Amino acid sequence: MNDNNILDLEAVGRLKGLVERARKIVLTCHVSPDGDAMGSTLGLARVLQLMGKHPIVVTPDRPPKSLTFLPGYSDVVPASFKPGVASNLLRSADLVVCLDFNASKRVDKMEDYLLQSPATKAMIDHHLDPEGFCDLTISMPRISSTCALLYLIMEAAGWLDYLDRQAASCIYTGMMTDTGNFSYNSNDPRLYHIVADLVSRGVDKDAIYNMACNTFSESCLRLNGYALAEKMQIMRDHQAALIALSLDELQRFGYVKGDTEGLVNRPLAIPGVAYSCFLREDEPGFVKVSMRSKGSFPVNRVCEDYFNGGGHKNAAGGELYMGLDEAIALFMKTLTSNDKYL
Ligand code: 5GP
Ligand code: MN
Repeated sequence: MNDNNILDLEAVGRLKGLVERARKIVLTCHVSPDGDAMGSTLGLARVLQLMGKHPIVVTPDRPPKSLTFLPGYSDVVPASFKPGVASNLLRSADLVVCLDFNASKRVDKMEDYLLQSPATKAMIDHHLDPEGFCDLTISMPRISSTCALLYLIMEAAGWLDYLDRQAASCIYTGMMTDTGNFSYNSNDPRLYHIVADLVSRGVDKDAIYNMACNTFSESCLRLNGYALAEKMQIMRDHQAALIALSLDELQRFGYVKGDTEGLVNRPLAIPGVAYSCFLREDEPGFVKVSMRSKGSFPVNRVCEDYFNGGGHKNAAGGELYMGLDEAIALFMKTLTSNDKYL
């Protein structure tokens, strides 16, 4: 593990050795996988396949429909859907690569299968403060996506010959989604060298943007419109915004998982709003917390301190086992102490 901005070549060499020796490789990522989680697992899976390996991607739950275009999507084994198959794959693997997460609890109900697997484990990730549950950890929190880190690893490992259009499309997807289509965390010039190379390998970046980021159902658009028009609260004195949606409201708009992706970012467009919180009542007594900020405001600290979570400085989340009204009251109570970060 290193905390600077230079890839640890010794660690890449060890990863290369592990991959070369492994016969049964499982690739996995965090629960509610996003473009970076799926892009990095499926991108690495494709490259390993072209190297003659037979990797299998096991995800804690189903990947979102918005990513069905990713090559290899239909071969993914979601543990929530096929727990027996997933646990057997993890138990019999000799190498498990953990992509885009830094803590075993991020695989949710799959945590025991992962921790009990006798396989050698390697982490490739960009979240702060990686836990030590892997035998090999390649963690670079200053890189904006696991996919960009994976590209640098592949380059250093001499694997770019295997990066065909399909693998490159996976890598591009994660780089794009984790930077909001290159609108934040995206001032590292290396990113654009990588993008140039991916496009030259045949990636259709415009099509990927439209499929991953600009395709919505009518009910999804209406839910987001309702949330902004009717539910957004701005607490100007605290430079804060809150949107809270109850189970009832979600059901009224035919909510399906993924429909509120990106909603939490929208209030940040308002000048003077430094951070934004979205509370979604997923089940009675369970509220998912999402927070985003701009500038130096550390929403990961807020999520660690009050919302049983964590994440990055500008994008974090947590979980509350309580009703929505109680969760709203808790958020309101944190406003004054959060002022210290402004
Ligand atoms: P999102 O708001 O998109 O669900 O999550 C944004 C980021 O916050 C994730 O990439 C992850 O780093 C972090 N995060 C979200 N939910 C949790 C959580 O429950 N626990 C922790 N530790 N981090 C979370
Ligand atoms: Mn990521």
